[in-house]
Amino acid sequence: MVGMAAALSLSQLNLSIVLLESRVVQGDSHPSYDDRTLVVNQASVCFWKNLGIWQRIEQNITPINKVHVSNKGHFGSVNFDKDELNVAALAYIVEAKILGFALKLTCEENELIKIIAPASFKQMQYKKDSVEVTYSVGENIHTISSKLMLAADGIQSGIRKQLELETRIKSYQRTAIICNITPEYKHNNCAFERLTDKGPTALLPFVSNRCGFVWSMENTQAQAILDLSDEDFLHKAQQQFGYRLGKFIKAGKRSSYPLYLVTVPQQVKNRVILIGNAAHGMSPVSAQGLNLAVRDVARLFDVIKEITHKSQDIGAEETLNAYQNAINTDQQQTMRYTDDLMSWFKIDEPIVAALRSIGLFTLNQSKYLKQELFHRASGYRGEIPQLLRKKA
Ligand SMILES: Cc1cc2nc3c(=O)[nH]c(=O)nc-3n(C[C@H](O)[C@H](O)[C@H](O)COP(=O)(O)OP(=O)(O)OC[C@H]3O[C@@H](n4cnc5c(N)ncnc54)[C@H](O)[C@@H]3O)c2cc1C
Repeated sequence: MVGMAAALSLSQLNLSIVLLESRVVQGDSHPSYDDRTLVVNQASVCFWKNLGIWQRIEQNITPINKVHVSNKGHFGSVNFDKDELNVAALAYIVEAKILGFALKLTCEENELIKIIAPASFKQMQYKKDSVEVTYSVGENIHTISSKLMLAADGIQSGIRKQLELETRIKSYQRTAIICNITPEYKHNNCAFERLTDKGPTALLPFVSNRCGFVWSMENTQAQAILDLSDEDFLHKAQQQFGYRLGKFIKAGKRSSYPLYLVTVPQQVKNRVILIGNAAHGMSPVSAQGLNLAVRDVARLFDVIKEITHKSQDIGAEETLNAYQNAINTDQQQTMRYTDDLMSWFKIDEPIVAALRSIGLFTLNQSKYLKQELFHRASGYRGEIPQLLRKKA
């Protein structure tokens, strides 16, 4: 997704782009019960609109109108409401598959983007004026030359390894179990976050009264939860979440994700820029990974735009350093926010639970604090890049 988003963005600057993808993307089948849902914040909505993606997926988007955060077994809760904050929606939910397919279609229609798939990146060679990229299509090996290469090859990024860029991995010793759940009552576009002594759970509203359920727990507990029958799993999930939406009726396929924080301090080298999960990995509990990647791409667009206006080399060291400087602050703040959230949620000391309750209670009393938090979560930090601004 991030590679395609970057290709579409940079094509707006009239650059010719070759996109290598090792898997054939097949997204035109009807979405199933189990597809992964993504929370899209306000800044990302602007980005997807500016790329012409939002208009394609609007029918399949669920707005979040309310968010309810509570602390299981303790007093204190906080409610965010779109009307109180005077916005059209707090955020939106979209299936990853729907977004991915819209991106693929839009890239295919773009004359400046050539998609080669399935094609596997093999290696690159840095030259003074270009980077030479070798890739395979089946048995055949090909080479292309470019001024700049973007590495959007995911959390295990082979390109990052080849470049020998330092990668710091912090394991939380926790796992997120994700699945779709249908509750008895209508979700009414309300998202729920429930903090429990076993870890946070979240229920995200989606189409056909489905909800995306996220449950983070100690690694040692995860396998037993994955092995449960659907009936037993629904019972356990219900014990954690409670009965705010009545009885849990149906559960989809469960997936599990070990929770890590992956930091790559230096994301540029030798005409290559890492983007998306290749550049940073974080827990899905904060729903920030793609939203942050989108902001990185928007900043990359601004940097390259300035360079192309000056007819300078888009892969030169100065360009790469300008990009690294542009993304540092937002990335560091977002990673710190996610890390703090994980630490805050995982401590099950009674005193911490009590402090969480006081925090929620205080927050619920203050419209100003809610507005501040909402503003941060909406993805607008510092100078706003062009692709995150509303079109006039
Ligand atoms: C359960 C879960 C829930 C999430 N929820 C949210 C959310 O609510 N909001 C949010 O903002 N983020 C969320 N995220 C994070 C988000 O999904 C990721 O940030 C995003 O998918 C990263 O996309 P990417 O394109 O960088 O990486 P990937 O999706 O990993 O894509 C990498 C691509 O590179 C290709 N590739 C790899 N190696 C090669 C090679 N050698 N040659 C050619 N191609 C190659 C792969 O085939 C793949 O298509 C969530 C993540 C998870 C796991």
